Amino acid sequence: MNLAPYAALEAHSRGRHHDEPGPSNRSAYMRDRDRIIHSAAFRRLEYKTQVFVNHEGDLFRTRLTHSLEVAQLARTMARSLSLHEDLCEAISLAHDLGHTPFGHAGQDALNDCMRPYGGFEHNAQSLRVVDELEDKYASFRGLNLSFETREGILKHCSQARARELGDVGRRFIERQQPSLEAQLANLADEIAYNNHDIDDGLRAGLLTIEQLRGVPLFRRHHEQVLQTYGPLRSKQERHETIRRVMSTFVEDLTSTSHARIVAAGVRHIDEVRMQSAPLISYSEQLSAENLELKRFLREQLYHHHQVYRVMTKAKRVVRDLFIALYDDVRLMPPEFFDAARTLEQQHGDIGRARAVADYVAGMTDRYALDEHERLFDPRRLR
Ligand code: MG
Repeated sequence: MNLAPYAALEAHSRGRHHDEPGPSNRSAYMRDRDRIIHSAAFRRLEYKTQVFVNHEGDLFRTRLTHSLEVAQLARTMARSLSLHEDLCEAISLAHDLGHTPFGHAGQDALNDCMRPYGGFEHNAQSLRVVDELEDKYASFRGLNLSFETREGILKHCSQARARELGDVGRRFIERQQPSLEAQLANLADEIAYNNHDIDDGLRAGLLTIEQLRGVPLFRRHHEQVLQTYGPLRSKQERHETIRRVMSTFVEDLTSTSHARIVAAGVRHIDEVRMQSAPLISYSEQLSAENLELKRFLREQLYHHHQVYRVMTKAKRVVRDLFIALYDDVRLMPPEFFDAARTLEQQHGDIGRARAVADYVAGMTDRYALDEHERLFDPRRLR
């Protein structure tokens, strides 16, 4: 790997909470990535929704395939900017570990339930998963990841939460930036979901090409595809257009970011952190087009009648589960019941609620549906 001086060089790492000898045959960030891949939370991503409910079709993105796409984009861009690919990969694979079942609907419902107890943020929860909840190593709690991976996972958080979080929370209070690798993984996430949500939306029949042609960025590339190939089968028409849109994002982001890094004259990760704004960014024109595309997806896809109906039901499932389990924590599996008792002793109601949120957030879509049935359907006795 040919790393730029402003990359997250291992020699400049702020290290791990619990000191460990460095790995002998891999980088510190490869070790982080490997620990993430071997975690139970990572395996659960396969059965968590991105936009569509997981069981609606086998070909739609899940949190797992989404995370793999983010990692792929982030690594490609990291290499062209001479940044640390392994760190980008570790951050990308971990960024959604704390996501609730049922995508954003689940997160909103859990956040509503947790409002009296400090709220629920999926970013902070991803960090909680790697710092606390994955608990299988004998000599430390969590996965004991490097500071830089943890910093990248915590993309945003409230000031109150930042104060509780200590080292990785500090930048939100001091208004500093994370590593360039973290900034890159953050935007790779956005590029991935913008594009795969168009793809899934079209394949699900919730969006049409005609509608999408109302978005200039899409129309431009769609026209180019038609001019190059003439009429195509719909699968090819869709893919040829989306891959051009995706390339536009990737090329714009890498060239704009490179120019900004050069202009800022940064020579060290600490100088990256001191910048008043992120150095990884789109050009002004693409930023505007990105906002247009996101607005379109919000109005036409995320708020689509059919999606709305499923998501409303999903919210009700999460709310019912939280209320029942908070009311009687003994209904949770013994491990979570013990955690609830311990946290309640330490923090009162807030601790009890946090243990319930940990349990609910860890559920896959199908586990949540099943648990709901087990708890509320009187004909189910187990
Ligand atoms: Mg994501």
